[in-house]
Amino acid sequence: MHDEIGDVLYDYGRGLYANITNRCPCRCEFCIRTMTDSLGSADSLWLKREPSVSEVIDMLADWDLSKYDELVFCGYGEPMERLEDLLAIAKYVKENTHLKIRINTNGLSDLINRRETAPELADIVDTISVSLNQCSAAKYEALCHPSFGEDAFDAILHFTKEVQKYVPKVAMSVVNVIPQEDVDACRKIAADLGVTLRVR
Ligand code: SF4
Repeated sequence: MHDEIGDVLYDYGRGLYANITNRCPCRCEFCIRTMTDSLGSADSLWLKREPSVSEVIDMLADWDLSKYDELVFCGYGEPMERLEDLLAIAKYVKENTHLKIRINTNGLSDLINRRETAPELADIVDTISVSLNQCSAAKYEALCHPSFGEDAFDAILHFTKEVQKYVPKVAMSVVNVIPQEDVDACRKIAADLGVTLRVR
């Protein structure tokens, strides 16, 4: 199945990662997809096709999960592009394994799915990390080129505020490619939203 689809599950540190889509509404200038095809134990995170929910569950059932603490949805694409499928896989994992569920997201789920999506994560997702990336709508658009234009930034802030009602651990992050004054401004935005900011 690996040859036919590509690397869906891969090791990275203490986490088991799930790469379920290559779709993404952004073109971030620092995106790792533009620098390398592989990460952790994966040979290539470019999928030949998206795996179905049952294919991912079969892969998880065959994988030795004993050395991991969590399943992280994060790959060469935005996992919330497949929100319903992600939740179906996560629900299986919650009900059948000891793993916690984390999502690394660009925070654009509401615009991608055209609805308020934070409530759908309740009781399934344990941790979510939202990429803030820049400190204003214009700077975000210039760095990440979202297909939603300048609406993207406010949508990220709104999602981060709302998702704290449903997910126990929420954090934001920036990549260390922006000036320190912008990192400081991002730190303040995150603090005003009630979450910590990680520089990665
Ligand atoms: S949101 Fe993530 S996957 Fe999409 S372009 Fe930016 S860094 Fe890459």
